[in-house]
Amino acid sequence: MVSSGDVDRLFLQAILSRGVMSSQLAQVIWGKCIKAVNESNDALNVRHSKEKDAWEGFVSKINKSLDKLDLEFRALHDESSGKEIKGDEIAQLATEYTPAEITFFKAIVEQIMLAPREAYVISDMAALREPALVGLTSMTKMQAEVILTSFVQKGWLLRSKAGHYSLSTRSLLELLPYLKSNYPDEILECTICLDIMTRGIACHTVNCKTRLHFHCFANYRRRHDTCPSCSTAWPRGAKDKPLLPVGEGAYAGDGRRRTRTITPSDEEDTEEEPEQPSQDPPPPKKAARGNVKKEQRREADMEVDNEEDEEDIQQAPTQATQRPRRSTRR
Ligand SMILES: [Zn+2]
Ligand SMILES: [Zn+2]
Repeated sequence: MVSSGDVDRLFLQAILSRGVMSSQLAQVIWGKCIKAVNESNDALNVRHSKEKDAWEGFVSKINKSLDKLDLEFRALHDESSGKEIKGDEIAQLATEYTPAEITFFKAIVEQIMLAPREAYVISDMAALREPALVGLTSMTKMQAEVILTSFVQKGWLLRSKAGHYSLSTRSLLELLPYLKSNYPDEILECTICLDIMTRGIACHTVNCKTRLHFHCFANYRRRHDTCPSCSTAWPRGAKDKPLLPVGEGAYAGDGRRRTRTITPSDEEDTEEEPEQPSQDPPPPKKAARGNVKKEQRREADMEVDNEEDEEDIQQAPTQATQRPRRSTRR
């Protein structure tokens, strides 16, 4: 017989199977668990409230029930859910930055994640325009510049010689749950090591999804000369044509600014009231982003390869040190 206690059980199962998630998603799941339980037993009418108190009450109840379990399970759960229930990993930045600066940081991260052609960079010009575009009207360009420098100095962003900002290893590791929940369609996984990647190579075959870190390419290429997915012949070097760059090498101008489509759960984001005031109608491109689009972008890449490659080669030494480390996630 389904009882109200099943809400907790369902919720814990969902949390444990997902590992890490944002607090918004956790609250959506909570609502769905309540709905499922109410629907399977007419006599039950478990109340669901979007009030913060109700959610906090539920979290503390869950934690109490976990207390009764053995230590090992509790530790596992604390690892995987204790952290995420507190929310947004980006809140780590809160110890160092003001809410306005965090809003700015999120805007930069968004532009990096939504950069066209898997470039995963934002130019310094575009970065300085962001505060005004996300409603931080009192932040001057000079202030923005100082804050950007601080993001680089504290290891959250990298700045290339060409003046492009990208995500640092620190950001890729520490903000991974945030990136995964906010940019699930933009995150690329290396075909070999399965870690997130924002710089490396893409197979040139249309519709081939192979993406490799530079170091993963080097290891793989020593023993194989064809793509692991589509078996097309590959050149020797990661920078050789017709392989395509992922990361700064794919940058070819800022193009039209893109923003993420706002979903209902985003509205609960308390961190930043003025999230996207300039977000009137979402750019038409956005809705259609996906693998098909990506392939089209990839095709467009090939036309501009020439100019990119020179830039690419100059960047090679930096890229070697900027590679995301392998995480323990396997
Ligand atoms: Zn890899
Ligand atoms: Zn391929």
